[in-house]
Amino acid sequence: MDMNNQAWAPPRVKQRDSQRAKVYKAENAVMKPHVTPLPTMADVEGFVRKVWTSQRVMEAWPRAAGRHSGWSGFIPKVKDGRGRRNSCANGGMSISIVLPHRNDWIVCHELAHIVIHRELGWNVAGHGWQFCSVYLKLVLWFMGREAHDALKKSFKLHKVKFYPPRKKRELSQEQKAQLVLRLGRNLTEQSVRELVQIARDLPAA
Ligand SMILES: [Zn+2]
Repeated sequence: MDMNNQAWAPPRVKQRDSQRAKVYKAENAVMKPHVTPLPTMADVEGFVRKVWTSQRVMEAWPRAAGRHSGWSGFIPKVKDGRGRRNSCANGGMSISIVLPHRNDWIVCHELAHIVIHRELGWNVAGHGWQFCSVYLKLVLWFMGREAHDALKKSFKLHKVKFYPPRKKRELSQEQKAQLVLRLGRNLTEQSVRELVQIARDLPAA
C-alpha cells in the first residue's frame, strides 16, 4: 500500500479504538501455529533490533524508523512487563512483553503500535486500519508469507479493516438531480431519508 497517500496522515481529532476486540479475536484465531518463541529478554531485544534496523522497515516508515527522523532511528526499548497482566507499547518509547508473550507474533503486534505512534501520533485509533496494515507488513517480513496470509484472511473474516476507507463519492449537481428522480419514483422510508440527506448537502441557493 502507498503509505504516502492522503489517508496516511495524523488525524486531527481523536479516533475511537473501535476495532480492538475484533483484532484480538482475528489474531488469536490463527496466529499461534506460526509463532517462534523468543525465550529470553535478550532474544526479544535481538528481534526488535532486527526489525528496527531492517531496510524495509526504515524505508516503509521513515518517520518511525528512519535514521534522520525525529527519533533518529532510536530502537524501542524492551521491558519485561513485570507486574503487568498484558503486553503493551508505551508511547513511541518501549514495549512491555510479559513472560508468556515472548514470541515474534506479540512483538510484531506491539512494534506495530510503536510505528503507528511515531508516524501518526496520539489521535490515531489504537487498532485502526493503519495499525493493521503495519502489523500485516511486519508479520509478512518477519514471520513469513504463511503467517501473513492466515492473518489477512482472519482480518477479512472478522471484518477488520486494514486498508484506507474509501472516499465518499462526490456527486455533481446533475448526478444528484438524477438520483433524486430515481429515488423519488419508488418512495420508501429509506429513500426518503436519502433524499433528505441529499437536500441537506445541496449548497444553499
Ligand atoms: Zn494492541
